[in-house]
Amino acid sequence: MSGPVGRVKLVGAGPGAPDLITVRGQRALREADVILHDELASPLLLSHARADAKLINVGKRGHEAPTRTQEETQQLLVSLAREGNEVVRLKGGDPYVFGRGAEEASACRAAGIPFEVIPGVSSAIGALAYAGLSVTDRRHAASFAVVTGHNDPTAAREATDWEGIARSVDTLVVLMGMRNLRSILARVKAGGRAGVTPAAAVMHATTPRQRSVVATIDTLADAVEAAEVGSPAVVVIGGVVALRDELDWFEALPLFGRRIAVTRQAEQAGSWCRALEAAGAAAVSIPMIQISPITGSSDIGAALDALPSYDLILLTSANAARQLALRAREVGADLGRVRARVVTVGEASTEAALQAGLPVERISTEGPHAAAMLEALRERGGLDGARALLPRAEKGREVLGRGLAALGVQVDEVAVYRTEPSPQAATRLRAALAEGALDAVTFASPSAVRNFTATMEADVERFSAGTCIAAIGPVTAAACENAGMAPNVVAAQPDADALVAALAGYFKTRARHEERT
Ligand code: SAH
Repeated sequence: MSGPVGRVKLVGAGPGAPDLITVRGQRALREADVILHDELASPLLLSHARADAKLINVGKRGHEAPTRTQEETQQLLVSLAREGNEVVRLKGGDPYVFGRGAEEASACRAAGIPFEVIPGVSSAIGALAYAGLSVTDRRHAASFAVVTGHNDPTAAREATDWEGIARSVDTLVVLMGMRNLRSILARVKAGGRAGVTPAAAVMHATTPRQRSVVATIDTLADAVEAAEVGSPAVVVIGGVVALRDELDWFEALPLFGRRIAVTRQAEQAGSWCRALEAAGAAAVSIPMIQISPITGSSDIGAALDALPSYDLILLTSANAARQLALRAREVGADLGRVRARVVTVGEASTEAALQAGLPVERISTEGPHAAAMLEALRERGGLDGARALLPRAEKGREVLGRGLAALGVQVDEVAVYRTEPSPQAATRLRAALAEGALDAVTFASPSAVRNFTATMEADVERFSAGTCIAAIGPVTAAACENAGMAPNVVAAQPDADALVAALAGYFKTRARHEERT
């Protein structure tokens, strides 16, 4: 064997939510040449991988046939490392908690392959935290055991002494226990635990699909069946389960369990998705539009040549700021040296302008209305005879330009980008709908609304009947209305937090209404 031998990293992915991986685990994903992952690994985790990294699904799910045997996986790990690769073996939860990580580490050791273990938050702990269950508690539990409920006749654990464990530990945490739930509960009871002891099952923990069932040893199996809760789930038995009413926080989030589509272009969807997820929602990013630069236009060339002569550069969107900076960079114009006042409207454009190295003067308005912007600018004065650059989208709103001209400003409106329908929008939308109904669809611009209705075609009416339509502001709301989708929610301000608050208010009212009817 020649050449340097690679290395294997056994990485714990955490219990489900993709950002519950450790910092070190995430770095290992970014650096890997090859990632061998399980079925349960979130696609979002795999998006950390390098574009040229090889991703191999060696997963198995529940009791279905494995796509690859354990031995084959181990051989693959060893041979990939021998070829000199940095190999990450990504496993749900912690690699050494019922993950067969130790067998893979043994295989590496036997083959002389160096390995590293990056622990993860096991579902045995993480699922409980997200379900409002504390695994220990001074009032209820001074010990816990994590036990597998999976019956494998060839393995030592077949001999699990459920009665003994039930007698000697306070909190029982059972992984892979759904299939044998009835017999496990019976044996725990036979061990001397009262039938009224609280017990719970938590499915798809830490994700927006989380579902919990709280019952007792006597009633959990029936309750789980009635609620159609299945694998993957963690079962918890013991007094700590009684704390759930007090400690539940995740399922109590205002948008918990709601599937909400974000139709903004990919670069800007992130902040909305994060805000929605922080409120418990499952954010589904389906960009309806994409931004394409306008290059080589003589207008842009002239504006960039004249850059030092402007008194005012008005940036009304992050795209305008970003695309102006890109066009400037292409021709080697130094934005850091403009002497104009650079006025930005709103947070996103301010951030983008700062990133482009522009010294900004921020104005805030109630929404991105031309009238409000003009008023704010007029209040600051110094407009008469000023020369202004207004970079915008190809089909931008000309109201602002005309308004500025009326205030005595000499305006150069320059199209620096165009928005186009995203070619993948239809496929993504169908895929999202196929996975289940969307509770809400959010829109950040009239063009997103137009492209959405064009994509949905005749389905718009049927679709919007059961789905909450949310608009970022009055202009977008009007576009929704025109498209035959009267908006249910309009954000009070054009930002993600206001949108989330408005959605939360809407679903709260709807839930109350549903309770009454
Ligand atoms: N190494 C993993 C466990 C692997 S065994 C860990 O440390 O978490 C697989 C079992 O883990 C499942 O049958 C289920 O009991 C549990 N599990 C994993 N992810 C889960 C999740 N998101 N919600 C509930 N249970 C989960």
